[in-house]
Order: sequence, then C-alpha cells, then structure tokens
Amino acid sequence: MVQIFSGDIAHVVADPFTHGDALQIIENGAFAVDEQGTILALDKRDRVTRRYPDAVETRFDGWVLPGMIDGHIHFPQTFATAAHGTHLLDWLERSVFPAEAAYADEDFARSAAETFVDQLLRSGTTTALVFGSQFPGATRALFQVAAEKGLRIISGLTLMDQGAPDALLHTVPQAEKLSRTLIEEVEKEPKLHYALTPRFALSCTAEMMTLCGELARAYDGLYIQTHINENGEEIEATAAAFPEAANYLDVYDRFGLLGSRTVLAHNIHTCDAQLKRLGETGTAVCHCPASNFYLGSGIFSLKRHRHHGVPVLVGTDIGAGTNFGVLEELGSVYKAQQMQRLSLNAAQLLYLGTLAGAEALQMADRIGNFAVGKQADFVVIDTAEDPGLRLRLGFCHNPEDALFTQLNLVRPHHVRATAVAGRLHQPRGHGAV
Ligand SMILES: [Zn+2]
Repeated sequence: MVQIFSGDIAHVVADPFTHGDALQIIENGAFAVDEQGTILALDKRDRVTRRYPDAVETRFDGWVLPGMIDGHIHFPQTFATAAHGTHLLDWLERSVFPAEAAYADEDFARSAAETFVDQLLRSGTTTALVFGSQFPGATRALFQVAAEKGLRIISGLTLMDQGAPDALLHTVPQAEKLSRTLIEEVEKEPKLHYALTPRFALSCTAEMMTLCGELARAYDGLYIQTHINENGEEIEATAAAFPEAANYLDVYDRFGLLGSRTVLAHNIHTCDAQLKRLGETGTAVCHCPASNFYLGSGIFSLKRHRHHGVPVLVGTDIGAGTNFGVLEELGSVYKAQQMQRLSLNAAQLLYLGTLAGAEALQMADRIGNFAVGKQADFVVIDTAEDPGLRLRLGFCHNPEDALFTQLNLVRPHHVRATAVAGRLHQPRGHGAV
C-alpha cells in the first residue's frame, strides 16, 4: 500500500553554505511512500495524488520537515538535565555520575529507555547518536526500545576505566567481552548501529583506547564517539595525562580513533593543526550550543570548522544541554554563531539539523531530505494551537521567512507528528486533518 503525506514541505537538497539554491519549499506539497518507507515521489500535492489515486493520504495542516538528526546525546543523563555544576568536571562528579549509576537497575533502565525514546520522537528527532549506559542491560534496553518504536539510533556502552566511581568502570577485558556481545546483537537490526564510546581521554587508559581502536578495525561499519576540547581544565588535565601527544586530537589519533565514522563532541577550544587533521581524516564534530552555554564551556566556531572541511552536525548533549530535541536546539545554534558575526539563514539552519547530520553519519544515501529513494523520516510542525506564534507567522513576508522564524521559535509542543521510514508517531494522539 502506498501512503501519501501532505503539507507545506521544506528540505535542503545540497549544502546551502556553497549552494544558494539548496532550500526547496513546496507549499501544499506531498510525498508518496511505499511499504518499506521509501519515498516514491515528491511534488505538489495534486500531482502526487493524481499519480497514486489509490494511496492512503495523511494530510497535515502544518510544515513537514525532514526528521532531525541528533549527533550527541547521553541516554543515562535523561534525568540529570539542568542539574547544577560550576563547570564540566565538577558537574560530572556532583550531578552526572550519580545519575548514571542509577541505570544499574534494569527495571529502571527499561522505563528510562521508554522515556528517552518517546521524548526524542516527541521532539522531532528521528535519528540519534547516543552515549549508552555503562551497564550492558541498560544499553541493551535502549536498543530494544528504539527497535520497537522505530527510532534510528547509533549507540554503545559508555567505556571508562578510571576517574569515576567504581560502579561505572569496566576493566579492559570486561569492556571487550561486553562490547563484542552488544555489537553482534545490534548488527541484526537494520535501523540500529553500534558506536564504540570511550567517554573521553581522561576516563580511559591507553589500554582502553587501544581496545577501541582494535574493535573498530575488527568490525565493519562501527562508529566511534567521544568528547574533545570542551573545557580548559579538561584540556590541561588531558595534556598532563598524555604528555607524548601533540594535542588533544592527537591522543585519539594515536589510537586509530579518527575517520569518517567518528564523531567528536564540542571541539570548542581547538587550533588550526587539529582542525586540519579533522578535515584530512573526515572526522566529524558535533556542535552542542545549549550545553556549551549551560556549562560555560565556550563558543564553537562553525566558520573555522567549515574552512578546514570538517563535517559538522548538531547535538543536544542532554543532560548538559537543556533542549531534548535538535529542532529546538537550532535556535541556540543560530545565537552561538550570531555571537561570532556568522548569521545563518533558514536553509543553513535546516541543513545543520538534517542533511548535515546524515552526511556526517554516512547516512545521506538513506536520510536527511525527501529525495526520491530515501526513507521517509519527517517531523510535522503545527502551530494551530499556538495563536501567538500563528499570528507572528502571519507577519512573515514569504515561506522562507516563515521557516526561519519557526526554526527559532518552535518548541516540542508544536511537534504534531514524527515518522521514521513512513511509520507515524503522533505522541499526543492528534489526528491529521
Ligand atoms: Zn556529552
């Protein structure tokens, strides 16, 4: 059975930093989707309905955008959002490690996974690169719930063998055994992917990072995620712990952890040598502005990363971040770049939340926009029940202006529906028009 989804459609078809015509808006548009969730056609609604007269149509009174892609979020910090900490290392110790230890309880972890996945879908996110729990039962529960609810995730066991309470640490042999088991389980599910997840250089010995490099080489298609250059004290401590490394990035480079399937969160306090090496290796960097503001970490330079050809995607970094969804995070992306006199337009903001994420995660053949042949992952924004915002949008001069304003003002309660591969989630039970 073919399904049709219709509404005001907006997506980017190329990189808008280099292509002025990358944004495509189709007012009163539609796309047709087959049973596998693959897009068959994208056009004005009347053309699509004429081409597929027997299709079942779901018509939305609102904007339909590609599903948002979150490049950095922590599952075991779901309930640690907006906890107090003066800066990164203090916050980790006082607020985050105790919250993460609660995931040892498998019943709690299962219900936390339900909350986490529901909240992502409710916020308009359809794909997420997630730091899993240190506890294998909890990370397995996250994969299971994501598979049941149809969310695309890339995740893995958070690995640490020093610098945290004992309950959160693994020995290197334990880490190897648990990682191999989970990798083999996850490989069976098409929408799930495994990411080796050493927390950051300070929480891993050289032996733990050597293991991550070995596992990355042993299995095809694994991702690697970790943190870098977030905070001055963290950077100084890392330099002291790895005196042989030329800089923070070089710590990971020495263990073979860079490449086109690696995502490093933050990279605020960086230098040209590190940016150059990121570009050469195709290593992606995840920009998490709300987290950077919250912890007072600093301001990320998108311009410098783009200059060196570094793939950049956006992440919420829950629980240091304060937005659960990338859709809401885009307003913080805009402000962080405004502070540096880079004024992003609607196409660039939308790109950073969607196609840029797909490209950085090597998934642009499947997701990121509504090109025919891709999977129908989308979010529907409906402002009908927000008279103030609806009135504001009435003062926009054209659809592109309206999109820009929405990308700055939209909140999770404006998300009417989310879909992954054409499977619709309508969290508040609203029917389509
Ligand atoms: Zn993080």
